[in-house]
This record gives sequence, C-alpha cells and structure tokens, in this order.
Amino acid sequence: MVKDDLIIELQPNIFRLKGEDTSSHSYMIRGDYKNVLIDSGVDKNFSKLQKSLLTLGLKIRDIDIVINTHEHFDHIGANRYFQDYSLIAAHRFAATKITVEDRYVTMYKSGDLNEPSLKVHLWLENRFRFDLGNYILEVVHTPGHTSGSICIYEFTRKILFTGDTLFAGGTLSYIGESGSVGDYINSINLLETRKINELYPGHGRISNTPEEDMQKAILNARALLRDEEGVEITDFREVP
Ligand SMILES: [Zn+2]
Repeated sequence: MVKDDLIIELQPNIFRLKGEDTSSHSYMIRGDYKNVLIDSGVDKNFSKLQKSLLTLGLKIRDIDIVINTHEHFDHIGANRYFQDYSLIAAHRFAATKITVEDRYVTMYKSGDLNEPSLKVHLWLENRFRFDLGNYILEVVHTPGHTSGSICIYEFTRKILFTGDTLFAGGTLSYIGESGSVGDYINSINLLETRKINELYPGHGRISNTPEEDMQKAILNARALLRDEEGVEITDFREVP
C-alpha cells in the first residue's frame, strides 16, 4: 500500500494523485492490459504529477489512455505532455470544445506560445467501456456542470470517478457556460439508480456516503434554481 501526502492507494492498483491548489486530482488505474489516468490537472501541477507517477514506477509514456471528465482547464491542462504517447479520451461534447481550443468554455491558459494544439483521440459516448482486465470502466454521460461532463463507473469495486459532477457532502460545483441545472438534476437522478460504494471526485476528499451526497446535491441544485441564499458552491475557476 503506497501512501504519502500526494499519493493514496484507494483500491488495489487505483491511486489518487493529489492536485495542488486549483488543480484537479488525477486518478491512476494500473490495468492488466492498459494504464489509465483520469484527468491530467493544471499545466502548473505537471511536475508534481510526473513525480507521483515516477513514485509508482510509471513514466509518461507508460500511460496508455488519459480520460478527461470534462473540458475545464483544471482537468485537461497537462494533456499536452501526454498526447504524443497516450490516447486522449473525452466525451464528444467536451472534445469539440477542447479541439477547437475554445478558451472561453475551457478557461485553458498555459501562457506558452509554442504549445502544441490539444488533441482528443477518442470521442466518447454514454456507456463506452474500457476493459482493463482487472477493472472495467464505463462512461456515464452526466451533463450539468458542463455539457460534456462524464463520470466513470468501475464495476468490480462499484466506485465512481465524478470529476466536478459530484463532491463529498453534495457541495455543488458552479454550473458552467455549457451546463444546465435541469441536466444536472437529471444526471444525478440517473446516478442514483446505480449501486455505488465510494465517490472519487476531481477536488476535495473522497466519500463513502454517495447516497447522502447525491440527495444533498439535488437539494442544492433545486435551491440554486430558486435562487436561495447560502447554497454551497465550490468554484474552481480562479486561475492562479
Ligand atoms: Zn469543471
């Protein structure tokens, strides 16, 4: 069991690599056939991410697939270091925004004039599966935070990687430019029909109370619609 500040082994061969400041966490899944990284974090966090991967004995070229949970800069920012070696995968509604470099919706800013354009090799649809042998990952399209938001469900452990769709405690992320509160509530209602043991969100702590979190998230979303004060919203948009 590997455990330090930056790396936690959540399940056998599934690791959370902590994102610092505004960066999303990355989740590393060491598969029998292929290695998958869920979200690459902000560009600025890349050296820390690389160090964490090296601690696990993995070089950048050992990552076969990078799955982005959605198109925001704090989840896709380090894709450019992987895209020559790994297949980059995102829902097609996120892929359209990433590949045309729509910086209004992705909020992506690297500040590097020589940067290569971002690529998405696999344009995902709802229920697309990645069979890694030891783990099977299923894409669940969960629009709301953005139109291209997905969660990743793992069948054997019944765990859900949620990006910015669901956080511990049911705190809402803000509803992005392409997002919708109605879509959000519908997405959470769909997730509620699945057996889920643990949530692995893009920011903050993991949760082992998914049912309560989902109920709270729906209450928060309805309160947001009614424009009530005091709705807990976490906003990761501030670029450092
Ligand atoms: Zn986001």
